[in-house]
Amino acid sequence: MCQGKKRPVGSAGATAAGLILLFSLCYSSLFAAAPSSDAVTGAAENIRVVTSIEPLSFFVKRVGGDRVHVAVMVPPGANPHSYEPRPAQMAETAKAHLFVKAGSGIEFELAWMNKLIALRSTMTVCNASQDVGLREMSERNHGHTHEHSRSDPHFWLSPDNAILIARNVERSLVALDPVHADEYAENLRKLEAQLISLKREITRKLSGIKNRSFMVFHPAWGYYAAAFNLKQIAAEEEGKELTPKKMQSVIRQARAEGVRVVFVSPTFSTLQAETIAREIGGVTRPVDPLSGEYIANLRQATGAFVESMR
Ligand SMILES: [Zn+2]
Repeated sequence: MCQGKKRPVGSAGATAAGLILLFSLCYSSLFAAAPSSDAVTGAAENIRVVTSIEPLSFFVKRVGGDRVHVAVMVPPGANPHSYEPRPAQMAETAKAHLFVKAGSGIEFELAWMNKLIALRSTMTVCNASQDVGLREMSERNHGHTHEHSRSDPHFWLSPDNAILIARNVERSLVALDPVHADEYAENLRKLEAQLISLKREITRKLSGIKNRSFMVFHPAWGYYAAAFNLKQIAAEEEGKELTPKKMQSVIRQARAEGVRVVFVSPTFSTLQAETIAREIGGVTRPVDPLSGEYIANLRQATGAFVESMR
């Protein structure tokens, strides 16, 4: 479940400002040609949603359809492990009805979630990873400097978890806007069907691959690897530069596993990845763990992984 304050948008408990908004909603639906009073979305009926990272916005758009306006905190190319929101984004959050967080321990959320929620006490917060079994970071990537065990935050990259995200988002939208519950349920049903067939398609593409190891610089693909019986070899420990000693051991492992491609995310510096690639006589290739085009991106990444393992 998403922890939602189960109150329809603009209904009971509305403040004076809310009542004025409610009035203008009725007013603009009576006189469709009248300009909208809502300067933020340009469409007064929209549910204003903020998501912390780009992939989550995909699920909100697909389940919410025309009824949602979605803004993303961490923009494409920025690093969710270190991002700080801009003042305009804080202002946007202060007007949001729903915030969809990953809830899986991404540094951006650990540092900012409480401050963002404090901006708007009535905002519903959906935990996208509710009901997801979070994986531990593998021992290699776990980093002995951490005192507590750390879960792998990149849960969205498995299609099964994607279905759970879609369901969590749907529950929050229904709680906020029960009048359109059937519509959200139907959108969810279509999306689930697509995600199930995506999983089948990826499984089929990976069948017959014998060497099932791929190397990524940043360890974002652990859930994907687990879902498809692959082995992710990660060079980096969450966000840290590799020491020369660690670099040598990564190069040794890459050689031993027959790795020829080092996958890099667009968000991270590729210098050390290029060094590894050079040392093993291989190349670097991009794969994006943070794309907002979830299905197309997973398809594309699969193609790149398949090619590297063949
Ligand atoms: Zn990451």
